[in-house]
Amino acid sequence: MKPILFDFSPAQLEQFVLDMGQPKFRAKQIGEWLSRGAPDFASMKNLPENFRRDLDMAAQTLPCKIVRKLESSDGQTTKFLLDMCDGEQIECVLMRTSYGNSVCVSSQAGCAMGCRFCASTLLGLKRNLTANEIFAQILVAQWELRSTRGGDRPVRPNGDPNNGDVSHIVVMGTGEPLQNTENVIGFIERANHDMGIGWRRITVSTCGIVPGIDRLIEWGRPINLAISLHAPTDELRGQIMPINNKYKLDEVLSAAWRFTELHNRQLMIEYILLGRKNAAGETELYNATPEYAEKLADLLHGKNCMVNLIPWNAVDERDFAAPSGNAVHRFQDALIKRGIHTRIRRERGTDIGSACGQLRLNNARKK
Ligand code: SF4
Repeated sequence: MKPILFDFSPAQLEQFVLDMGQPKFRAKQIGEWLSRGAPDFASMKNLPENFRRDLDMAAQTLPCKIVRKLESSDGQTTKFLLDMCDGEQIECVLMRTSYGNSVCVSSQAGCAMGCRFCASTLLGLKRNLTANEIFAQILVAQWELRSTRGGDRPVRPNGDPNNGDVSHIVVMGTGEPLQNTENVIGFIERANHDMGIGWRRITVSTCGIVPGIDRLIEWGRPINLAISLHAPTDELRGQIMPINNKYKLDEVLSAAWRFTELHNRQLMIEYILLGRKNAAGETELYNATPEYAEKLADLLHGKNCMVNLIPWNAVDERDFAAPSGNAVHRFQDALIKRGIHTRIRRERGTDIGSACGQLRLNNARKK
């Protein structure tokens, strides 16, 4: 396998350039291109053409390359399927929003958690991603943003959420971030340090790994925490999320409240609304009944949180169905009546299979 220059320290990069018979300053030029996310050596326009060709034979730039890129019809969402150096594939999604450009990154290739509504876990866990591999996903999105607007610098100072670059990060793609906590922490530190992305514009989502939440508390950075809850009782949650057999709801939520109280942050609660087809082919509500809305309100009453309701995005292998728009609104109304901040997450990029893990799964099926 060719060495990945993105993984080199400045000193290693300098030595590599010297070994190729080039002056030291070329290492700095290459380093700058890498920090902008240059996908190949051909893009490094200030290097001599023959050196770019030699580099191409000897090394690669980032630890991942784009295999497929899908644009939603409204042009607001771009989904990337990326090949890692060992042949594993991952996804990341760029979402252009009114508040800035947000990137949803994967933290693992596959997932071991086995949530019954999710495509990402169907092929099991392949491996953890390194901090560099997670960070490279941000650079892929950044390169895309800058190339589509035809400039390779931010249009406003670094750190300004509307500077045209990546401004927000959600660690909510394939994988369970808190099964790979140290690499996720390393990645976030780097995104904050190198790209000026503020702690409060970074969200980590977990299905409820309590020791991982405790580690985030110990780490002490005021990022946002999201809990994939999806059910308000242990009984129901245990049926769709095997992790609930290890960490019960009250244990997960008390760790989450400890985190949010420490940083005075609102806890994000993710709740996928699921239905099921009955024998007559009609959709029956599963975790989206008014009774479950009441139970969820009981659980969250008086707490500083925001519930994101996510109508289910179909995955062929899973036998759930999306509840009707009316059922979704009824569920939301029941929570709002009880004083729980709730919003329905706008479905982004449904035309490009934006459900977590769907693109990777579809591609693996074709292999
Ligand atoms: S929902 Fe998240 S934690 Fe659960 S299987 Fe999918 S990727 Fe893993």
